[in-house]
Amino acid sequence: MTIYQTGVIFDQVNAKEADDWKLEAYTARGGYQALKKILSEKITQDDVIAEVKASGLRGRGGAGFPTGLKWSFMPRSFPGAKYVVCNTDEGEPGTFKDRDIIMYNPHALIEGMIIAGYAMGVAVGYNYIHGEIFEGYLRFEEALKQAREAGYLGKNILNSGFDFDLFAHHGYGAYICGEETALLESLEGKKGQPRFKPPFPASFGLYGKPTTINNTETFASVPFIIRDGGQTFADKGKPNNGGTKLFSISGHVERPGNYEVPLGTPFKDLLAMAGGMRGGKKLKAVIPGGSSAPVLPGNIMMEVTMDYDAISKAGSMLGSGAVIVMDEDVCMVKALERLSYFYYEESCGQCTPCREGTGWLYRIVHRIANGEGRPEDLALLDSVGNNMAGRTICALADAAVFPVRSFTKHFRAEFEHYIEHGKPMKEHRWC
Ligand code: SF4
Repeated sequence: MTIYQTGVIFDQVNAKEADDWKLEAYTARGGYQALKKILSEKITQDDVIAEVKASGLRGRGGAGFPTGLKWSFMPRSFPGAKYVVCNTDEGEPGTFKDRDIIMYNPHALIEGMIIAGYAMGVAVGYNYIHGEIFEGYLRFEEALKQAREAGYLGKNILNSGFDFDLFAHHGYGAYICGEETALLESLEGKKGQPRFKPPFPASFGLYGKPTTINNTETFASVPFIIRDGGQTFADKGKPNNGGTKLFSISGHVERPGNYEVPLGTPFKDLLAMAGGMRGGKKLKAVIPGGSSAPVLPGNIMMEVTMDYDAISKAGSMLGSGAVIVMDEDVCMVKALERLSYFYYEESCGQCTPCREGTGWLYRIVHRIANGEGRPEDLALLDSVGNNMAGRTICALADAAVFPVRSFTKHFRAEFEHYIEHGKPMKEHRWC
């Protein structure tokens, strides 16, 4: 069940209303006003970028990089093709917000991308949609058709002389295609493997041309920023953490779903919105930003606010805002075994430390979880992790290491007990 609070993307959206995603409903709640304002008032590209900078909007896909700054990197005077690309390749365990944006408010994304195209002098955009999001892909295609028929896409948009068209691309479901350069490779029709950086996509992106890539939620926040002002957006959050953010809450809560709340909302309030712990159980641990973010014990989480800086200070990452809640019945050894398998399975295999290391991590955790752990295994996990993190083309290796380091740090006694006795400290429900 999905529940929304008031925010900038889902404000006034009724996900249960069958037609609420359509163009008529979007325009009735103020949709495409931002685009009309830019085109009719001939707002300059620099002013649009300045407004996005003023909003404090940071990339909602995980890195949290300032969006306005990223847009300013686009070499607008570059002759020939340039691109904007949306990353809807949402494949991280625990993350399920972008698929709801393209299902329930696709025109916010389309309008945001058109504005981005205008601001950066780009005439073509693509939205790369994760292969497992099939319904959302079909709906997004339908929304594109509506926008094109209404004159919001294509040549001479709203008689302004501005041309911009946008296309959807359905991926095949590989997690690594969420990495921006792997996404570009896949979009070009090649095997989705990350590229060496530099050069960065801003100068050498899609088909070797300057490209700006942002996450779905990032683009979908832009119409509000232009319509109501960057400062209004910024004021919804806290300093350096402007605006509202979608949090996908999963795990042992009463009402899992997407919650759009101001950045800086205390975690305990977010947990209360999600109905609290399921069955009145105790909170044991939380992964606050998708499965690659370090896990934090429940007592630490109950004291933090949900924003980039506070979560980072607590020792984890806000990431994509995927909040995985674990209750007292979770066996942390088994949970880590499952996560390690995911990264082992999803490594693209280009770099030896990642290709081999993810397998090592999984096999070591697997043998601990099967009662065959060895006394040296925790040190071995450390050693393997140290030879992976920061030594590969992309961050997947780090993503595989972070859970291992944080699980074995915060819940070390459980791992030690499992190794010594060949079984968990207590029989967990989730063993
Ligand atoms: Fe591929 Fe892993 Fe290297 Fe990334 S780190 S390029 S996923 S092998």
